Amino acid sequence: MDNRLVLYNTLTRKKERFEPLNSPFVGMYVCGPTVYSDVHLGNCRTFVSFDLILRYLTHRGYKVRYVRNITDAGHLEGDNDEGEDKFAKKAKLEQLEPMEIVQKYTLGFHEVLRLFNTLPPSIEPTATGHISEQIEMVRKIIDQGFAYEVNGTVYFDVEKYVKEYDYTILTNRRLDDLLNNTRELNGQDEKRGRLDFALWIKAKPEHIMRWPSPWSVGFPGWHIECSAMSSKYLGEQFDIHGGGMDLAATHHTNEIAQSQACNHTQPARYWMHTNMLTVNGTRMSKSAGNGFLPHELFSGNHPLLNRGYSPMAVRFFMLQAHYRSTLDFSNEALEAADRGYKRLMNAMALLPKLKPGPKKGALNIDELRQRCYAAMDDDFNSPVLIAELFEAVRMINSIYDGKLSIDVSSLSALKTLVQDLVYDVLGLVDDNTGSDDFEKLMDVIISLRNDAKQNKDYTTSDRIREGLSSIGIQLKDSKEGTLWSRV
Ligand code: AMP
Ligand code: ZN
Repeated sequence: MDNRLVLYNTLTRKKERFEPLNSPFVGMYVCGPTVYSDVHLGNCRTFVSFDLILRYLTHRGYKVRYVRNITDAGHLEGDNDEGEDKFAKKAKLEQLEPMEIVQKYTLGFHEVLRLFNTLPPSIEPTATGHISEQIEMVRKIIDQGFAYEVNGTVYFDVEKYVKEYDYTILTNRRLDDLLNNTRELNGQDEKRGRLDFALWIKAKPEHIMRWPSPWSVGFPGWHIECSAMSSKYLGEQFDIHGGGMDLAATHHTNEIAQSQACNHTQPARYWMHTNMLTVNGTRMSKSAGNGFLPHELFSGNHPLLNRGYSPMAVRFFMLQAHYRSTLDFSNEALEAADRGYKRLMNAMALLPKLKPGPKKGALNIDELRQRCYAAMDDDFNSPVLIAELFEAVRMINSIYDGKLSIDVSSLSALKTLVQDLVYDVLGLVDDNTGSDDFEKLMDVIISLRNDAKQNKDYTTSDRIREGLSSIGIQLKDSKEGTLWSRV
């Protein structure tokens, strides 16, 4: 396996050659959603980005075990072990059992990701399904001397940890800054140090989701689930750990601390973080109230939207930005993405119709292939790949129009290249004309028009041409019959 693939590792703050621990096998863990409400488009961006990464690794021949968890317990409102339990609060509001909340939003999450054509993970473990693994890990951390119990709650001892390890290794923040920006402890606090965080929390009487443990009837802290589940399915050390950038400072920092304290090893060799989807420069989030729901975007049913966009146009919009750049949401940007997506799909529909001919003009498919793969090998640079694919689109259109011709072997290489990259790697499908039914429908319409023309009923044949043109389909009469394409 050639490993020209280079990726940006948050841990070292540089691009590094990707060298899996046990090639061709790759272990990848991505933090999944907290299923107490609908996922918004920002969450989807992160999962679409990792879908691109998964698809490209697989396309390159790696055998990826992709683990993406579902957080269905233990997530309090504040990231600082404070506030109400997110599931219990929503359950009260919707008058449902907490596990009904979990089921409802897990199904919704799966449905949305299916619409975006993301591949399912190999394993999708839940926090509630791994309580005993989490308890076991907490016990080991206590045994190693990096955690302590107070009144049934167990805290990770960050002050002790920093004596042996670098707590801020992932973000490269100064420990003093972190301390200065963290609330000082008061007499009510059980924690010994202000950076300490909960591994196990004793349940208050009203807390519904609770499990027995050696310390109390309670529930796990938020960070321990990912450490316990990633090591269970991928080993104490694995290749890639991912999530949104917002998770690096607390959740991933604490995951690293837990794994180091328990297993004395860095859990992941490469940490990958996706950048945020923003609206007018502000991060899209549930709490900021600027979170578009995917179905609002598909239907156009939202005050900020001029119209609806198909899931594939939105996927294309996301892939047009590099995963480490912010992506700002606007009607104009979506409109442009929709046009680009349709141009690409139009070319894909023409591809099977292209005929080889005597070679005219310089078409170097090999060079195009090299540029496409070089883009993806450079930290999964999908915007550069898409720009290269538009080179291919121009070629396809010119060949179709007869301005260029291409020999048999180059044509077959061109077809394989763009189909592999558009369908397998970018994960795009044609959601306008994708089905055979659409092709058959067009055949029926074209034959009706031809009948009308033969009968000299030009009113009808013109109405058909104009009607199709108004929905963006152009007819072209040629020696081989009537051809159609999207404009
Ligand atoms: P949550 O359900 O809040 O735990 O988030 C699930 C995933 O979505 C995490 O990896 C977050 O980092 C990511 N995420 C949250 N907001 C955004 C956003 N505006 N843009 C991109 N990713 C996000
Ligand atoms: Zn996580």
